[in-house]
Amino acid sequence: MRILFFTLSSLLFILFSGCTPAADGPLVRDINAFNEAVKKAQPGDKIVLANGVWKDTELVFTGKGTAEKPITLSVEEKGKVTFEGQSNLRMAGEYLVVEGLVFKNGYTPTSEVISLRRNKEHLCNNCRVTECVIDDYNNPERFDSDYWVGIYGKNNRFDHNYLVGKRNQGVTVAVRLNTEASRENNHRLDHNYFGYHPILGSNGGETLRIGTSHYSLTNSNTLVEDNYFDRCNGEHEIISNKSCQNTFRNNTFFECQGTLTMRHGNETLVENNYFYGNGKANTGGIRIINESQKVINNYCEGLTGYRFRGALVIMNGVPNSPPNRYFQVINSEASNNIFINCDHIQLCAGSDEERSATPKSTVVANNLFYNDKKENIFTVYDDISGITFKDNVVNEGMKPLQEEGFSIKTIDPKAYKKEAPATPDNTGVSWYPRKEYEIRFRSGKVIPARAEENSLVEAIRNSQPGDIIELTEAGTYHMTKGIDLYHPLSVRAAASLSEKPVVTFAKTSLFNIENGGALELSGILFNGAECDDKPGNAVIRTSRYSMINNYKLMVRNCDFEDMDINHSFDILKVYKNTFADSILFTDCNFNTVSGNVLELNKETDDIGIYNAEDVVMENCHFKEIGGTVLNLHRGGRDESTFGPILYFDRCSLEQVGHDKRNASGAAINLHGVQLAYIQNSLFEGCKPMKLFLAVGEPVIEISDCKFDEQGEIISNDEAFVKKNVTFLGTKE
Ligand code: CA
Repeated sequence: MRILFFTLSSLLFILFSGCTPAADGPLVRDINAFNEAVKKAQPGDKIVLANGVWKDTELVFTGKGTAEKPITLSVEEKGKVTFEGQSNLRMAGEYLVVEGLVFKNGYTPTSEVISLRRNKEHLCNNCRVTECVIDDYNNPERFDSDYWVGIYGKNNRFDHNYLVGKRNQGVTVAVRLNTEASRENNHRLDHNYFGYHPILGSNGGETLRIGTSHYSLTNSNTLVEDNYFDRCNGEHEIISNKSCQNTFRNNTFFECQGTLTMRHGNETLVENNYFYGNGKANTGGIRIINESQKVINNYCEGLTGYRFRGALVIMNGVPNSPPNRYFQVINSEASNNIFINCDHIQLCAGSDEERSATPKSTVVANNLFYNDKKENIFTVYDDISGITFKDNVVNEGMKPLQEEGFSIKTIDPKAYKKEAPATPDNTGVSWYPRKEYEIRFRSGKVIPARAEENSLVEAIRNSQPGDIIELTEAGTYHMTKGIDLYHPLSVRAAASLSEKPVVTFAKTSLFNIENGGALELSGILFNGAECDDKPGNAVIRTSRYSMINNYKLMVRNCDFEDMDINHSFDILKVYKNTFADSILFTDCNFNTVSGNVLELNKETDDIGIYNAEDVVMENCHFKEIGGTVLNLHRGGRDESTFGPILYFDRCSLEQVGHDKRNASGAAINLHGVQLAYIQNSLFEGCKPMKLFLAVGEPVIEISDCKFDEQGEIISNDEAFVKKNVTFLGTKE
């Protein structure tokens, strides 16, 4: 009763005093009113932003509160105040609190969305950003870099925020140490929900970075605890620790394709974190570099990542390393950690001519390694005599790394199962829906299409994400218009058809995967005879412009023929600044193509960028292809990502690569591909297969393949596996 009485009386007071009723402060409706309110704000004041869309609004929130009486910037109703278009927030001063802001539908005009400084001189100290949301707020230019949050100054707290869908280059949250006033900062980052972060395919896709190599030997003293990282796959560093004396504890990493990396700086504590890979590809744990690092009581389960994405990675260093390379691991420790069904523990990882300094005075003790599928999970790349192993346990059936420091026991993994303290429920905000960004084919309705002119164009124009366009009758479907795809779609032949329906088209390309689009095709014959008689046609192309959304292309049981009305007719044509999570062709036939089937070589800057992560070609048959069947390129020596990855199985190639415009001079050309399995395939009358092995330790395996008299593999390096490959007289 009493509460009601006070509420009523204060409401009456507000009404009678002529102010707009608001949560707990004067309601601000536009940027001018906001600036006025900021100017007048005294300790204890609350500035409340009115519900609505704040478009192209750049907030500068400055002031001086006190520990007891901070100045607060809040919103009328959480979730109903959104900053869109070209908006951002800069804040500077003492004891400022910001809560409830949402940024979406746009991107920052500067290089940060939320900046805890006004400029280089005016920083935040003792400030807090809580319950804010940044949702898919990305610069449409994929490689224009920006940060979502830049933390400067000292003693700031960043907590209970929800950040999801960072897609352009640049880390999601950066703790900056670039001036003295930002070092030994004692920041606390806690209870944040870091949502889905798709593969960037380049360096600069870290979800959290603390420091840079430049200031890596200064203390940051940042505490990162109780955060939830959900599929943060931007690059192989989920977190890039680049300064000294930081603590990471009680964080959960759910299916993240990367590791918590102690990239630079010393005296890091990594304690009681939880890594759940659930058997997903490339999921990793913890990577140790530098001195006096302590990795204790962490729990890792179902991590499959290899090399720099192992469940536990201890790196080799560079003797007398410059700050931006790799310092030797010295005086470090990994103990009391649990590894359940983790596939790779990597010791002296990265060992090469440059990284020759092996770990020193380092202890690996009391760890438990359980794996019920894999006998040997340890890979040793160099001399491990500088690591002391003590009291580690592996389960029965596994091979211990060595006798000393390991014992074999019967382990019941259930007895060690631990639940993580940070969960989706106790992190982020409760009032904003969690978004699912994975491309879901066939999640929508079926839209029938008849064998009529432009029937697919019409059906797709009326489609929703995940819909299926079904070709319901045999015959020819002729498209006089190109089809722009802005969401995931499947196009398939009805199961009842006994032969493949035929799709012909007149424009220079049939399907255009624009930003947001993804395509799945099955059971269709594509014929290029009706196309414009000019060079450069394609059945499918990506956007000609930067694509901020990764796409998928899945083609099953389709045939492609007469793609030779003019030269350089491709099956898929990709453009620079586009990236496929996966491209799959299975059970397809390609007959007479004047250009390339898959030419994925448009990232030519040689900075480790490439056009597709996973490429799969299975049971495909290629005949009379003027260009390459596959040209897959990743240039430069950057090690931040681990693609492209190729599976090429049960294919036959006949007369491939002979067109004079085929610049690669190859039937298959792989440059800098990180993982390639080429197997059970036949090459007849083809230009050579060319390999260029670069970056780290690429794994290239060619097995059970036959090449005829013309067949040849040309490589810069012999460090690839050739098993049961024959070269002569295989024509039968
Ligand atoms: Ca990186």
